[in-house]
Amino acid sequence: MSAQRPLVGFIGLGNMGSGMTRNLLAAGFPLIVNDIRREAAAEQLDAGAEWAETPAALAARADLVITMLPTPKHVDLVVNGPAGVLAGLADGGTWIDMSTSVPEVADRVRVEHAGRGFKILDAPVSGMSVGAAAGMLQIFVGGDSADVLRVRPVLEAMGDPERILHVGGHGAGYAVKLMINQLWFSHLVATAEVLAVGTKAGVDLEVLRQALIASPANSAFVERDVLSVLRDGDYDEGFAIALACKDLGLSIDLARSVGVPTELSALVEQVYRRARAQYGDLAGEMTPVKLYEDLIGQELRVAAGTGLAAGAELAGAEVAA
Ligand code: NAD
Repeated sequence: MSAQRPLVGFIGLGNMGSGMTRNLLAAGFPLIVNDIRREAAAEQLDAGAEWAETPAALAARADLVITMLPTPKHVDLVVNGPAGVLAGLADGGTWIDMSTSVPEVADRVRVEHAGRGFKILDAPVSGMSVGAAAGMLQIFVGGDSADVLRVRPVLEAMGDPERILHVGGHGAGYAVKLMINQLWFSHLVATAEVLAVGTKAGVDLEVLRQALIASPANSAFVERDVLSVLRDGDYDEGFAIALACKDLGLSIDLARSVGVPTELSALVEQVYRRARAQYGDLAGEMTPVKLYEDLIGQELRVAAGTGLAAGAELAGAEVAA
């Protein structure tokens, strides 16, 4: 990789990748892009990026390759498939997977191509498409320190420099991202449950919420994040429940692969799957609250104006996706 401005190859120009590539270009990185939907690259090509017909063609030209794809299956196809990244990447080349995924694909590449000296990092993100567009993503990087240091300027073009965290060796980035989402979704289900029960038992919803805030059971979710539903009736369609279910499934897969039973996570996943079945793939990630509202036959709502400043709530929402 050249010292100052490596040619960055970017595959996956969706909700996240489009903002991320815009910020790479704005930071002065030359860019080569690929997506199965060529039309997704229109803006980047207008702004001076090159187009590659295949991941292999992209990898053959780029100094480092970034993937930002929906699921591990997509990552596997793009990396290992016909005309995939590995068919073009030079020995010693760098691949950074920023998708929310699991380590299996990269692990297999390291084992099956051990002699080719690829530098591989997992670097999934939080911050939603809004954070991607603003170049303020939180990035959790797993891999070797020297590689992280070398690509840091590229990551800084897409993320908040203070929140680009080298969290451990290969796979640690994927694990941290999945555990953050798992815990947040668990907070959501647990909170919806107690708010529904307390309300049904006759307690005023905001009195109950304030009592929880003043108690040892308080959480950022009770204090802040749940307000988007309680106050605004907003279940966050910016992050579809289908993707939330994908993340929960991967979290369970990860637990299975390391041999840890996770009864609670499995239950949370089932609640999410029930909400997805009931309200559809495109329903918001907070729709499980609606399951409990339907159970008690009333919406959980507090007065408009309840809660913190909008900025604080946005920061909280970034955690989930
Ligand atoms: P998306 O579906 O909007 O974009 C994915 C892109 O990959 C699409 O443009 C699609 O055409 C492209 N693609 C799919 N298969 C391909 C292939 N074989 N070759 C080339 N391109 C291909 O998804 P997204 O919302 O941008 O999410 C990407 C990743 O980031 C996911 O793992 C997601 O979980 C994670 N993530 C999303 C958010 C969010 O708020 N959307 C936040 C944090 C993390």
